[in-house]
Amino acid sequence: MYRGKKVTFTASKEVITKLLACNRTSADIWNACLAASKQHHIRTGTWINQTQLQQAVKGKFPLHSQSVQAVCHKYLFSRDSAIQSKKKGITTARYPHRQKRYFNTKWVDKAFTLHPNGKIELSLGIQNGKRVKPLVLFAKNLPTGDIKEIELCFDRKLYLSVTYDDGQVAKPQTGTYGAGVDMGEVQAIASVCENGEGILLSGRKLRSIHRLRNKKIAQLRRLMSKCKKGSRQWKKYNRAKQYILSKSDRQLRDGSHKITKAFVDWCIAQSIKEMFVGDVGTVSKGTKKKQKLRRRERQKISNWNVGQQVQYLTYKCQAQGIAVTNVNEAYSTQTCPVCHQRHKPKGRMYRCRCGYVSHRDTHGAKNILSEQLYGIFTPIEEKNLTYLRVA
Ligand SMILES: [Zn+2]
Repeated sequence: MYRGKKVTFTASKEVITKLLACNRTSADIWNACLAASKQHHIRTGTWINQTQLQQAVKGKFPLHSQSVQAVCHKYLFSRDSAIQSKKKGITTARYPHRQKRYFNTKWVDKAFTLHPNGKIELSLGIQNGKRVKPLVLFAKNLPTGDIKEIELCFDRKLYLSVTYDDGQVAKPQTGTYGAGVDMGEVQAIASVCENGEGILLSGRKLRSIHRLRNKKIAQLRRLMSKCKKGSRQWKKYNRAKQYILSKSDRQLRDGSHKITKAFVDWCIAQSIKEMFVGDVGTVSKGTKKKQKLRRRERQKISNWNVGQQVQYLTYKCQAQGIAVTNVNEAYSTQTCPVCHQRHKPKGRMYRCRCGYVSHRDTHGAKNILSEQLYGIFTPIEEKNLTYLRVA
């Protein structure tokens, strides 16, 4: 299975300067993609395709040809996702348009060479008919496994993001039960299994990291707005801002890993075969007026990094032979499974006039599950509920 790892490295000052230049060149390629795409659209009224785009940037930049192509791929990927989103009616989706100053450079396949002592050679390809001397750097904690891609990233300093195949084969599906999964902010994960077991994993710690981060960033933004952009004081605040961002990012990633790990362990213990995850992507949609009203709420949602959590959950489940299916979660938190009336729950419990009562968070998970199992919201007996607080 493919996995990613952040790898630090050492290199000579000269190489570091060249590496930084690589990411500036990649930004130039990105900007060239924007320009080529725009021109193509003006001239023909259609979208530029992969061959045409690659032709437009080929041989014009001092990087390995595959590194140039990688930027094109990223451009095409983000453009196509924007097209898809627009088709789905998400009006806020935008085509790639922003000019960049830095862009991660990627080395794939034959563009890099690895040596057993941790030496890495990154090729700059052939320029003007001559092979350019590769960039040499040294890494200590390279992952063991088949390395597929190396990406040069920057977060307060340069590092490598390495994609590799760990050689593990996903376990076959062995479980028996289905489970409904509802992701939220207060309860990071709420799930109920067909066998009647339920679990709640708290997300309060992640939320408090988010809140503290937002508060500090807002403070620094205010301070920065008072001084001249690029001045010494401004730079000082900017460094502090970058520090807070990268630190909180690390903490949040770590927390998401712990939560999803604990959840997958529970799933294995319950012998779960397939989980149905409520599609949270639909939460931030709505009419313009609604969006305005819900600004605060939307901010909450954008802070709560559910995409990352779903991603972590999916790959951990696949490794354990548990299938993950995204399902539409419309009204699952509002509808009563007994009388099918809709109303918003107040407080931590969901109470219906017909007498039905459930924990608010597992209520959604139960509805998601019953709809998948029986095609209709119907009560699922909950025998036992486990509370877990891991991060
Ligand atoms: Zn009811």
